[in-house]
Amino acid sequence: MRSTMPEFPLTITSIMRHGTGLFGDREVVTYTGDGYRRLPYRDLAHEAARLANALRGLGVDGDQRVATFGWNNAEHLTAYLAVPSMGAVLHTLNIRLFPEQVVYIANHAEDDVVIVDASLVPLLAPILPEMKTVRHVIVSGEADTGALVSAGKDLHDYRTLLDGADDVFDWPDVDERAAAAMCYTSGTTGSPKGVVYSHRSSYLHSMSVCTANAMGLSADDRVLPIVPMFHANAWGLPYAALMAGASLVMPDRFLQAEHLARIIAEERPTVSGAVPTIWGDLLRHARRHGADLSSLRLVPCGGSAVPEALMRALSDEFGVRVVQAWGMTETSPLATVAHGDSWDRRVTQGRLLAGVEGRLVGGGDTVLSCDGVAVGELEVRGSWVTASYHLDEDTSRFHDGWLRTGDVGKLDADGYVTLTDRAKDVIKSGGEWISSVELENALMGHPAVVEAAVIGVPDERWGERPLACVVLDGTAGVAELREFLSAKVARWQLPERWAFVEAVPKTSVGKFAKRVLREMHTRGELT
Ligand code: ADP
Repeated sequence: MRSTMPEFPLTITSIMRHGTGLFGDREVVTYTGDGYRRLPYRDLAHEAARLANALRGLGVDGDQRVATFGWNNAEHLTAYLAVPSMGAVLHTLNIRLFPEQVVYIANHAEDDVVIVDASLVPLLAPILPEMKTVRHVIVSGEADTGALVSAGKDLHDYRTLLDGADDVFDWPDVDERAAAAMCYTSGTTGSPKGVVYSHRSSYLHSMSVCTANAMGLSADDRVLPIVPMFHANAWGLPYAALMAGASLVMPDRFLQAEHLARIIAEERPTVSGAVPTIWGDLLRHARRHGADLSSLRLVPCGGSAVPEALMRALSDEFGVRVVQAWGMTETSPLATVAHGDSWDRRVTQGRLLAGVEGRLVGGGDTVLSCDGVAVGELEVRGSWVTASYHLDEDTSRFHDGWLRTGDVGKLDADGYVTLTDRAKDVIKSGGEWISSVELENALMGHPAVVEAAVIGVPDERWGERPLACVVLDGTAGVAELREFLSAKVARWQLPERWAFVEAVPKTSVGKFAKRVLREMHTRGELT
């Protein structure tokens, strides 16, 4: 029997209409470094219409890729709404990648237009000539665009372009299965791969973000996405906020702890997402200078393992509830969230959300049991989990309709995932696995340790042994740290190699760059 329900399309257009129509008094607030710009959602709708009209005027009349090269701000949000809703594809370029990677990605995606923030013109200018398919560059904000001229692209000023455009747009009926947005993996593993989100996947992901098992967003929330809008769609927070009628507070390019503390105290966000390193910085800043973080009811944190000590400190000292989440660019990204009353649960990567299924796979691709004991590679599938990469024949990351995440860990019968490592970071010592994540987590619980990254290095006797790279704030010697660790991990896992470093190198999205550490070790720079 067929249902009586229509296949009413799930589109970003409808999220935009709902958010800007029913919650016109909510706002997107953009921090300027010394104040705030405010754009009520009812005006955001007109801005989106202007941008769509302007892009149409530049010849964007199909599924052309409109790239963004910018920060979290009102203009980026406008593109998030206008570009997919007009039937084109939003491509959020990661401004922190190496220039040649940005070029590769822009050419691979065949970007047609780039909207660039004025502050990033110097970064774009040298690579623009190599972005072969780009025809138009729209500069948002005051910038010396002289350096862009030689690239031979048509240059436009964002404000002038939008001011000359109609503030009403006849939004087309888009197919919910059509491409809405795309994002490339940041390339921690191999060359960047394009993930293309559909309207439908973005809609369903947003609904999931709004559920209480995820972030439980409502019209009472003010959401501060610190995670960049070029990093897996700022974890889906912008679309989810529009869907929930929650206001958005945007930090723009001011991501240092003192600015974030000020924004939180003044704009009183209730929910804020960022990677652990950002919260670590904010915690140290708040301890030194004091901070009013009392408005935050929930801080989803992920991108890399969240140290338990960080969660506990923010909770005990500032009353902030940090909830660990796991996901990937490939999973839109939210897939698990670690709610729960006990720390046993909260230190996991989280519980699978409805709509995402997971399983563990061991050697020979055998499916392992979800008993919370077996260790294997996590595989996931679901409506917002990609099933292939853009223009890429390589199927090695896919397995009978499941995505091989490259993450190794355990899964229990209640759907909680505990990751021990990325497959390529696993340390194999004498035939046993040592979890670098567990060692790092334990080390970062020491009061003098700011950051700790553990890598496997070749060892004649054991094959590989852990090398702990530690950033200190205070004093602690190897003996003390080993002693501290020995209360938490098995003796044979204790590192005998230590390096005290100024800072742990980070990837473009703020994760420990273990590949760089391994290279430094090979060059003899970590002793
Ligand atoms: P990239 O793969 O280029 O680093 P992503 O941001 O898509 O870019 O990274 C996804 C990966 O980040 C996951 O596969 C996992 O290894 C890691 N990750 C995300 N969240 C967590 C978490 N809570 N704990 C541990 N690792 C995490």
